[in-house]
Order: sequence, then structure tokens, then C-alpha cells
Amino acid sequence: MERIKIKKVFIEPVNSALAEPFKIAIGTKYSIENVCITVVLENGVEGYGEAAPLEPVNGENQATVLATLNSCKEFILDKDISEYRDISKILKNVFWAQVTARCAVEMALLDAFTKSLNIPFYKFLGGTNNIIETDYTIDIVPPDVAKTDAAKLAAKGYRTLKTKVGKNISEDISRLLAIKDGASGCAITIDANQGFSPCEAVHFLNELEKNHIHPILFEQPVIKTDLPGMKYVKEHTSVPICADESVFTSADAINIIRTGCADVINIKIMKSGIIEALDIAAIARSANIKLMIGCMLESSLGLGCSVHIAAGLGNFNYVDLDPHIEPENEPFTGGPDYKAPLYTISDERSGLGIKRR
Ligand SMILES: [Mg+2]
Repeated sequence: MERIKIKKVFIEPVNSALAEPFKIAIGTKYSIENVCITVVLENGVEGYGEAAPLEPVNGENQATVLATLNSCKEFILDKDISEYRDISKILKNVFWAQVTARCAVEMALLDAFTKSLNIPFYKFLGGTNNIIETDYTIDIVPPDVAKTDAAKLAAKGYRTLKTKVGKNISEDISRLLAIKDGASGCAITIDANQGFSPCEAVHFLNELEKNHIHPILFEQPVIKTDLPGMKYVKEHTSVPICADESVFTSADAINIIRTGCADVINIKIMKSGIIEALDIAAIARSANIKLMIGCMLESSLGLGCSVHIAAGLGNFNYVDLDPHIEPENEPFTGGPDYKAPLYTISDERSGLGIKRR
């Protein structure tokens, strides 16, 4: 392949109304506040990347991502697109704390590169499968609402429902019973987002057992740094334990394996970037740890990229890539076709197959 230089870089905020408000510790978000980077190659190909920052998870927001990407712009210009790994490595050394901004750059480079090769991104990664099934998350809502939502989601075809736990044990159990009641055929996954102490998590699992609730997965029961605490939970249950907030880097994944504290690792490109996510997947697979893929508040661009990764690498046992935006509010078009609960990637479109609306 001849050298193809990056000739233009555009950086812009992407705002779009969320289907449901999203609560974080410092307030409630009503819209996604993301950033899109576009790289234009000398052959005319455009590559798109998205950063979906969320302060409590990665310490970034739209303003910091815009500043980081503007600082990267000069460095990226005139580079050869096939050298995307070198570009990414240098950016990682410099902007080591700005992972969602770097993820957007990697996404745009890989989109442009695979478009220039004229193959879909998932085929570039191995092309294991072109259909990916996702779960759907039911928010922390009263039990009657959870029951109605669960029944509607099951009727739409979802086979796995996820809910957040860890704030109030009796409310969590009422909501889980309501979900089970509304969608008896659906599997349930729970995510404590670091909300329990190790003893509380085990107590919670015992209470679930008494209520005949058998989750297929328990994400991040305890604070991300407490790997021995997570191991304690794992040793006191048969429910698979998933490390999410505990794993941002490949070194984190190695620590999980050394500690023996989790059965599953949840990979999110907004925690690790794309290239390091591939490393984490390889480490997990080598250690017989199962894989999950999740998301932050991406639009169809970032979600579509994660679908390509799951489809390209294969063997993701748990997929949590439910959209947060109504289709009419999506800032991008194309990408994997979504008919709940399945994403299907078309081989007709190269790269991520996504365009700015
Ligand atoms: Mg999680």
C-alpha cells in the first residue's frame, strides 16, 4: 500500500438528547456531550472518531476532550495513515490520562485506514461474526415501572436485561423481582458500579438466593482498587464476577488475573482506547477469563465501533451495547443495522460504515 497522508483534521462537539436522563454524582445529564474528530486523507477518504467522556469514570468531559484533540491536531497532520499504531503510541505517552480523546483519534485513524483498504473494520480484526446480540439496561426505577419495562423489552426480543444495584438492598431486590415477574424468560445481569463493601456484596447475593433470583453476571461489586475484596466476593458465590471499573489498561487486566479476583473482564473502548482494548482481550483470552463489551454514552459511531470489535474478535460472552439516543436524534447515519436485540454489520460498507448526518 502506498503512503497515504492525513491532510485535514476537524474537531467538533457532538450534542444530542438522551432517550432517558442519566444521573452522575455532580448532576443529571439530559444530552450526550461528546466530541467527533474527522481525519481527511490525501485520497479523499474521511475517517470518523468519537470521544464519549464521563467525568466520574475517566475524569474527562467535552471541554477537556476538545482541548486535548486540538493539542494533538498538528502532530497528526501529514502522518501516513498506515502508521496508526505509532501515532497512537506517541499520543498515549503524552496524553496518558486523556483516554477518551485518544480513543476518538484511534477510531478515526482505523476508520480511514480500513476504508482505504476497502474492508469493513470487523473484517480487518478477524471477521469472526457479523451479528452481535446486546442486552438492555433497566434504570433504577420503581418496581411497577421496572416490571412494565421488562415486559416491553422482552416483547421486543431482548433476552438479557441488566440493572444497577448497590444503593439500597431492599429496593434493588424489589426491582429485580419485578423484572423477573415482567420478563420471566430473560436472563438478568447486575452491576453495582463499586457500590458494595465485600461483605455487603456477599450478603446481597445471599438475599438474591433467598428470593430465587439468579443473575448470570455481577459487575464490579466493590471499589475498583479493592482486588482482594473482589476476590472475597468471587470466592463466596457461584455468580460470575466481572471487573469493569477495575480494568482500564492491559496492566490492570494482568493484575486481575494475578489476583484471581474476577471471572470476566468488561472491555470498553472509552476506558482503554481501541488498540489497548485489543491487548486486554488477548490477555483475558490467554488466561481463560471471559469477555464482556460495554459502553459509556456513545452515539451510534462509538457503539458501532464496539460492535465491530465484538464481531471482529468474537467470543464476547456478554454484550452491553444498548443505544442511549432515539434513532431520529442520532448525529450519524449508517453503521451496524440495529433491530433489537441484534446488530448486523453489512459487508457492503468499508471501515465503520458510518457518516455524519
Ligand atoms: Mg459496569
